[in-house]
Amino acid sequence: MPDPRPDFPPTRAAGLAALAAFVPRAGRDYAALRNLDLPGHPHVSRLSPYLRHRLVTEAEVLAAVLARHSAADAGKFVEEVFWRTYWKGWLELRPAVWEDYRAGLRAALNRVQTEAGLRRAWEAACRGETGIDGFDGWARELAATGYLHNHARMWFASIWIFTLRLPWELGADFFLRHLLDGDPASNTLSWRWVAGLHTRGKTYLATAGNIARFTAGRARPSGLAAAAPALEGPPPPPPGPAPAGDAWAPAPGTGLLLTEDDLAPDFLLDAGLAPAATAVLLGHRGRSPLAVAEPVAAFTEAAAADCARRLGPRLGPVAGPFDSPAAVAAWARSAGLRRVVMPWAPAGPAATLAAGAARALAAERIALSRALRPFDAAAWPLATHGFFRFREAIPGLLARLGRAPDGAGGPCPGPSLPEISSGGVPAPRGRGADGPPPRPPLRW
Ligand SMILES: Cc1cc2nc3c(=O)[nH]c(=O)nc-3n(C[C@H](O)[C@H](O)[C@H](O)COP(=O)(O)OP(=O)(O)OC[C@H]3O[C@@H](n4cnc5c(N)ncnc54)[C@H](O)[C@@H]3O)c2cc1C
Repeated sequence: MPDPRPDFPPTRAAGLAALAAFVPRAGRDYAALRNLDLPGHPHVSRLSPYLRHRLVTEAEVLAAVLARHSAADAGKFVEEVFWRTYWKGWLELRPAVWEDYRAGLRAALNRVQTEAGLRRAWEAACRGETGIDGFDGWARELAATGYLHNHARMWFASIWIFTLRLPWELGADFFLRHLLDGDPASNTLSWRWVAGLHTRGKTYLATAGNIARFTAGRARPSGLAAAAPALEGPPPPPPGPAPAGDAWAPAPGTGLLLTEDDLAPDFLLDAGLAPAATAVLLGHRGRSPLAVAEPVAAFTEAAAADCARRLGPRLGPVAGPFDSPAAVAAWARSAGLRRVVMPWAPAGPAATLAAGAARALAAERIALSRALRPFDAAAWPLATHGFFRFREAIPGLLARLGRAPDGAGGPCPGPSLPEISSGGVPAPRGRGADGPPPRPPLRW
């Protein structure tokens, strides 16, 4: 039986245990049942808080699932894991979309200050006091557990935008303040997708029949919007260049900087980084201009502490968590560092802090190198168009994953990445297949 508790212990061990418990259900069961939103969420993995912070990596999840199921049986689950990768890549190629969201949110929060009706409606929605069956329960479930099923997120966003007619940015902000997995890319772009701002003109309409069916009759809302006209907005910008990552090489006097975006710096350590000291810089309190929910802060801070505990002496003395660039510069100066290396932070609050840290460190003549994980370097440049084009590259990415860490994870992963075959053989290691044993995917 799946664990019905909604809690998410903030450790890698708990993430790995959740993965091990879910693997048997990641095949055809998942494909058939994943859209059901049932108590305890028995048909989905609930791995997102771990994946979002890379307590467990995408590569590890994919390797574990494909060691148990054939690529065909696990195809749906594999695709869903790659949705996270795709959204991250899409936003990395268009970081202005994150800044536009932040500007839209500031404008909406200003309106909340001056429009009493809007303020009341917004507060009622966040508290789960709209009277809309289902919606109110999801608002409370989110606040209580820090998690919502994907289908509930879609229904919630659709009702927020098209029935309650609230600004979408306020809904995305409500999610980011409460979701343990709150993620600038997946969250912003999913809300934009529901609103019709992502695929121009295509929206998502929540219907009472669909909700009743996939909640097994637990929610039977009435009065939902009958149509979902796309919101007005400029078209998404064209893709810019993919981030190349900064070159680095192992050298004495190097520090490691960790953020909540990647708590598996093993790919750097295995490539020869031997940090003289490590600091933790956390941006979770910058997810919103409003206060983030305490469980989000507790999860993020404990997850970072778990990473430091796990890697122990490999990190040298660990300082932080810091929440300002100035604190990072002061740490690096007092540790006598000459350079600092960090896993790449994608668009979001940690990346904003890291950019500030790069400037503050430069003033101390200390260089900050942002190193791209091979998995991201391989996948993100492919997020130029829609998911369906990206999906065609998944077999090639999986073939590379099967070969990892050959040629991957070394220093200087910069621009000259090996080419990725797009039509490669799907996933190695189907059930009973002869193949190389799984390799340590933390490097990928
Ligand atoms: C409006 C809206 C907002 C969202 N906000 C976030 C967010 O802030 N952070 C976040 O991690 N996900 C977000 N998602 C995506 C998705 O809902 C969650 O990743 C998923 O529900 C997590 O639950 P799970 O781990 O049990 O998923 P599973 O169904 O078990 O999927 C396995 C993994 O695949 C990935 N995945 C699955 N579905 C999606 C998806 N639609 N988009 C991206 N990745 C996916 C996740 O990493 C997930 O852990 C949002 C979706 C919507 C519709």
